[in-house]
Amino acid sequence: MSRIAYVNGHYQNLRDAAVNVEDRGYQFADGIYEVCEIVDGKMVDFPRHMARMQRSLRELRMAEAMPLSSLKIVMQEVVRRNRIHYGIVYLQISRGVAHRDHGFPSPAVKPSLVVTAKSLNFAKNQAQAARGVKVITTAENRWPRVDIKTVGLLPNVLARQEARDKGAYEAWYVDAGGFVTEGASCNAWIITRDGKVVTRSAERGILSGITRAVLIDVLASLQLKLEERNFTPDEAYHAAEAFVSSASQIVMPVVSIDGNVIGNGKPGSIALRLREEFHRFSAIS
Ligand code: PLP
Repeated sequence: MSRIAYVNGHYQNLRDAAVNVEDRGYQFADGIYEVCEIVDGKMVDFPRHMARMQRSLRELRMAEAMPLSSLKIVMQEVVRRNRIHYGIVYLQISRGVAHRDHGFPSPAVKPSLVVTAKSLNFAKNQAQAARGVKVITTAENRWPRVDIKTVGLLPNVLARQEARDKGAYEAWYVDAGGFVTEGASCNAWIITRDGKVVTRSAERGILSGITRAVLIDVLASLQLKLEERNFTPDEAYHAAEAFVSSASQIVMPVVSIDGNVIGNGKPGSIALRLREEFHRFSAIS
């Protein structure tokens, strides 16, 4: 079955789907994106993803591509046409197509909207979570506005490749102060030996993950103690557990950081419990 993409008003074969070469997303990374998990063919935490999308657009002074109710229908239709049971739906909005000039087009042009979806292998992801993954750390080199989910991801691309080259799954950025910010495409968490769950505050230096926000609700309901604060790689090396969170991985236990074994080298029980409980707290639509 060929995959279907939505591009500026048309559902097309992904193979043929294309944007104009003067699309500002293509030329300047002048665009934003969102990724929602699909479970049982339904979007997970859609309202929170849309609220973040609207914020990203506002921060970049970009127009909405269409009303939210219509956007939801398009995203559901892409999921349906691709027969996604478990996977992700990807949405990208750019400022639109205009002759190349750094300043915003004047008058404004119509934003470009692309929606794609793909299946993920549930069993494979579960097996990976049962083994745990390795991460490395790397120097933070992104712009200060990482709170906006822009398609300008070149530093993230290079960090992920560095991780792969070193036989790891993900790279955690470390800021100039020596503190972990987040992963190339996930939020970073550790669990202290006395059971406190620690993740950096979303105020500065990270994308405010939707999975992170839902996990904070999960922690409260499990009566686990949350600390939103900075932590160093060294604290992480000595943590009882570590994990990463994102819409496509939910909770992925980390068993090694920069070659240092975390805990007993196996996924931690709290991380696995959070992974299990997550969908009881996420909204499905
Ligand atoms: N941080 C970065 C840099 C990301 O790219 C992502 C997800 O893609 C996240 C954090 C996690 O965000 P969410 O849980 O909303 O997927």
